[in-house]
Amino acid sequence: MNKEIRIFSPGTVSNVACGFDVLGFCLDHIGDEMLVRTTPQQGISITKIEGYDLPYETEKNVAGVSALALIEDFQPGFGFEIEIYKRIKPGSGIGSSAASAAGSVFAINELLGKPYNKTQLTAFAMKGEAVSSQSEHADNLAPAIFGGFVLVKSLNPLEILNLPTPEELYAVIIHPQIEIKTLEARAILPKDIPLQKAITQWANLGSLVHALHSDDYSLLQRSLQDVVIEPYRSQLIPHFDEVKTAALKQGALGFGISGSGPSIFAITKGEDSARSVEAAMRKVYESSSLQFETYLSKINKEGIKTISK
Ligand code: ADP
Repeated sequence: MNKEIRIFSPGTVSNVACGFDVLGFCLDHIGDEMLVRTTPQQGISITKIEGYDLPYETEKNVAGVSALALIEDFQPGFGFEIEIYKRIKPGSGIGSSAASAAGSVFAINELLGKPYNKTQLTAFAMKGEAVSSQSEHADNLAPAIFGGFVLVKSLNPLEILNLPTPEELYAVIIHPQIEIKTLEARAILPKDIPLQKAITQWANLGSLVHALHSDDYSLLQRSLQDVVIEPYRSQLIPHFDEVKTAALKQGALGFGISGSGPSIFAITKGEDSARSVEAAMRKVYESSSLQFETYLSKINKEGIKTISK
């Protein structure tokens, strides 16, 4: 008998302020659903995609490529078909491709009786992510798989640290409907960093990790700053400075670019604060002609989860 599983795969924020390329966190109810089913014929096929126009070819879809990496290793002797119910817009900067790449390997691992741990699943998922970004990275995948705040200590060997998440943390995301080309976002980055800036950045990242461990919201606020990347990439995002000023004035603990944009995020203490920060951020874009969407989410400590099996 064929077995199947339905899962929820969340959106994620990577490049969290001073944690460029290493720190991410997981969103709560913002995410995709996927259905994965065993099939007698071997291999991976993508049989349904709803929500956005994405490739059905297994080798072109990140969910297919990560699943292929897993079954190549496990050799189950049967195959899987995947249905993707995509809610996270591709290219929005909140881990649309990561949700698919991580979701397929999570689901297959469940159907196989959990032979792999979360770090191993992240490694398979990285093969899928590489299809969309041309390089392997894990700072969206690992938060989706582990939940909460995650630090990718190294890619080779893959070492992932699941950090504690203070109970009252919320995220507000605003997604202006513009496209930022990954190449452009990369090209704008400086090749070298002045030592003084590097010192500030790693002091902030160390303090941020300590703040998460000690539930210290005030230290978190003083640490959530990016002096290296944001001054460059923020130029690609319309009204960045105004939205940031509005959010911080309204009491946000921190603010930054989600992934390589165009989404930007604020972190707050508590839901009430998140709601007023969201209103302040919306107000800036409402006075422009830009189309945008906002999301409000508790930080999700659980990560990807099974809906039914
Ligand atoms: P995001 O950060 O939102 O994931 P990316 O630009 O990294 O955005 O990835 C989106 C790209 O990945 C698009 O070109 C899209 O066609 C491709 N892609 C392939 N498979 C998927 C998938 N299952 N989900 C989302 N994007 C996918």
